Amino acid sequence: MGLTGDGHVHSEWSWDVGGPGGPHSAAGLMDAMCQRAVQIGLPALAFTEHLDVSSWPIKPEDMLEQLRPLISEDGILTPPPLDAEGYLDSIERCRHKFPELRILTGVEFGQPHLEEAGAREVVDLDALDRVNGSLHTIPLTDEPGSARSEPYTLYRRWPANKVIRQNLSEIPRMLAGSSTFTVLCHIDYPVRYWPKDQEGPFDPKRFEDEFRQAMRAIAGTERALELNVGGPLRPWIPQWWAEEGGRAISFGSDAHTTDWLAGNFYEAMAMAEHFGFRPGHRPEDFWSR
Ligand SMILES: [Zn+2]
Ligand SMILES: [Zn+2]
Repeated sequence: MGLTGDGHVHSEWSWDVGGPGGPHSAAGLMDAMCQRAVQIGLPALAFTEHLDVSSWPIKPEDMLEQLRPLISEDGILTPPPLDAEGYLDSIERCRHKFPELRILTGVEFGQPHLEEAGAREVVDLDALDRVNGSLHTIPLTDEPGSARSEPYTLYRRWPANKVIRQNLSEIPRMLAGSSTFTVLCHIDYPVRYWPKDQEGPFDPKRFEDEFRQAMRAIAGTERALELNVGGPLRPWIPQWWAEEGGRAISFGSDAHTTDWLAGNFYEAMAMAEHFGFRPGHRPEDFWSR
């Protein structure tokens, strides 16, 4: 079987890559991603650029050096807005230049349950091929409107267990508060930053009930779950997802550089197949069971 489509790719139009202009510009990355896709036999990809319309506190040492100027003096990160027009022009140019490739438009919408009105001012969400929903920040309390932080910041302030549990308990609110996204991205996002030096290796069994509850909630909304496989494969994700009634998965490398495109896809496809998921007709389709 050839590669399946990559449903989560970033280019210069994502603020954390460096943007299309300026001193750390990543101009030309979309073009380079398409060239790389053709070279490795990747038939389809979705450019899901970061769409963040909120601000959150962050420590400069938690950010790449070139992104630190985005942090204000009082320690608040305000991501620059997506240039939707420039992005869509760039997609059109690439579709013209790489006719053999299926190129989908999209965003990775951060905290979609909090930011829908603001996001709709930036881009016409309904006109995009793919809207991925992500939780990159966690509320500090369960009160509505609570301040939020990224998991890797919270690991320094909270017991590690609490970061994972608080993140998962936010998922039902995220599902209920937004109708815009069709794929829930990287349910294992806080696991990426798990403090293994202090805690030892991450043990998913410690959080099995909470992960399963979150997955049941996602499955109940007919959304797809992303296997975010640029990093380590986690077989318990498709296993528990299937067991909790999940029907559809999207494969995402979360590539921010060309060498990560479709990273680990062959192993991830074999893993998904093992748990009963099968490809659709088109390479960009979700796999389903
Ligand atoms: Zn993300
Ligand atoms: Zn991403």
